[in-house]
Amino acid sequence: MDLQGHQLIGQQSIAATGKPIYAINPATGQRIEPGYGSGSMSEVELACQLAWSAFDSYRETTLTDRADFLETIATEIEALGDVLIERAMLETGLPRARLEGERGRTCGQLRLFSNVIRAGEWLDVRIDSALPDRSPHPRSDLRQRQIALGPVAVFGASNFPLAFSVAGGDTASALAAGCPVIVKAHSAHPGTSELVGRAVQKAVAICKLPEGVFSLLYGAGNDLGQALITDPRIQAVGFTGSRSGGTALMHTANNRPQPIPVYAEMSSINPVILMPAALEARADALGHAFIASLNMGAGQFCTNPGLILAIKGEALGRFMAAAADAVSTSAPQTMLTPGIYAAYSAGLKQLRDSGKVSEIAASNLPTESKSPCHSTLFLASATDFISDERLHAEVFGSCSLIIECSDMTQLQEVLEHLEGQLTATLHMDEADHDAIKRLLPTLERKAGRILANTWPTGVEVCQAMVHGGPWPATSNSRSTSVGTAAIYRFLRPVCYQDLPQMLLPEALRDDNPLAISRLLNGIRE
Ligand code: NAP
Repeated sequence: MDLQGHQLIGQQSIAATGKPIYAINPATGQRIEPGYGSGSMSEVELACQLAWSAFDSYRETTLTDRADFLETIATEIEALGDVLIERAMLETGLPRARLEGERGRTCGQLRLFSNVIRAGEWLDVRIDSALPDRSPHPRSDLRQRQIALGPVAVFGASNFPLAFSVAGGDTASALAAGCPVIVKAHSAHPGTSELVGRAVQKAVAICKLPEGVFSLLYGAGNDLGQALITDPRIQAVGFTGSRSGGTALMHTANNRPQPIPVYAEMSSINPVILMPAALEARADALGHAFIASLNMGAGQFCTNPGLILAIKGEALGRFMAAAADAVSTSAPQTMLTPGIYAAYSAGLKQLRDSGKVSEIAASNLPTESKSPCHSTLFLASATDFISDERLHAEVFGSCSLIIECSDMTQLQEVLEHLEGQLTATLHMDEADHDAIKRLLPTLERKAGRILANTWPTGVEVCQAMVHGGPWPATSNSRSTSVGTAAIYRFLRPVCYQDLPQMLLPEALRDDNPLAISRLLNGIRE
């Protein structure tokens, strides 16, 4: 498929005339054709107008039709074949195996949401039948279901060019909820975005849905993204990226005449706690496994293990020696963009300049990449960490900070000083369980997911996953951006009181024509 560098608005392909965006091959620094002319207010207007006019009919598509649509998107993405993988490799520097796995995850999550739609539990139907003879006041007939919020603006993430971009988790969950989606492509992988965008566009046509169900816009700088979320027809925002970007979008969304929710996933350093018995028993193995996790995707994962907490002593020394050994033999990997490489270098400098850390190891193997990630390990005392917030900042890449604590009391104090996190990981043996019981309330307050005897990288897409957490891990800790529960971010409840059967949505009618599970007078049907 030839790339055209166009905005995909509904079923149209429009050449915008604004400043063009070019992908840069991060390994070579070379520009990749074609250029993508930045969209202007007129492209935003058209996409929003189409999305709004599609909304009422799309949100009432049958469960089967909507589920089929998500499955068709997955099929069309797979049909792109190797062209998609090769373009994504060129634009992101990510290796083939990683991108093939990510494509599998992307299509898998679309199919998982399709199953969720068919089951209909997300409608969360609750029926309280009328009690006309209740004294002193009769009760009306009350029926609740969830409806879609409205058109959603999705900002594609740089670090998951497929699974968190054009047809990624935010798009899948919003479409599953019945919301039209307008994606603002990430400027780092415009060609990958166009390929996936065309697959979604084709699925819309195959499924004979209103064209405004999906649009894909490109815009250099922040103007287009800002205009999009300012548009009164946009009703929610999904975002994965920097803390400054997420905060700026929240600010704009909150200052609209009608504020709207922004589901932003931003920064997390994902503490890993090496409990004393586990550390004593397997310091060496833990050190090597830690670096394998740290190096995954050049550390450009939101769940990267950026902070290690342990009690000072001989066992921690063994762990650090093993980790340092693994770091020094780590081959540098190409980072996603020259900008992310620059941000990584600046983050390392900030840590070095703090005067509060010592560098334990850095990978220095030669590389020809123009955007190399050299894995780096630092050490700091618990006291310095607690007193200096610069040490708490996410350094996006294979960088981690080990904190030496004097005892479990100080380790818990460090945890109490952390900001909100996506994950908190415990390495433990049975002898550690009593101490962990005391840590758990703190970890529950701080993180969205608590893991035992594993590493935080690798996020399963399933029913029980929580990929969220208190600020600044996310802007809204009451939801998840991965897993089927993500659908609830884009729904809201409506109650129907005393409406005649024929006017009720099918999900709420007495004969339950959708055959879905419902809460009828407090009892699950
Ligand atoms: P980003 O700079 O936050 O950009 C993400 C998206 O938001 C892009 O489409 C960007 O537009 C848009 N955007 C950013 N600021 C905006 C604003 N003020 N108004 C409107 N739109 C705005 O993230 P990034 O480019 O992916 O990476 C930069 C840094 O973010 C990394 O170095 C890393 O620190 C962090 N990051 C963290 C995670 C994580 O999971 N924790 C993931 C990715 C990145 P443009 O395309 O025009 O830039």
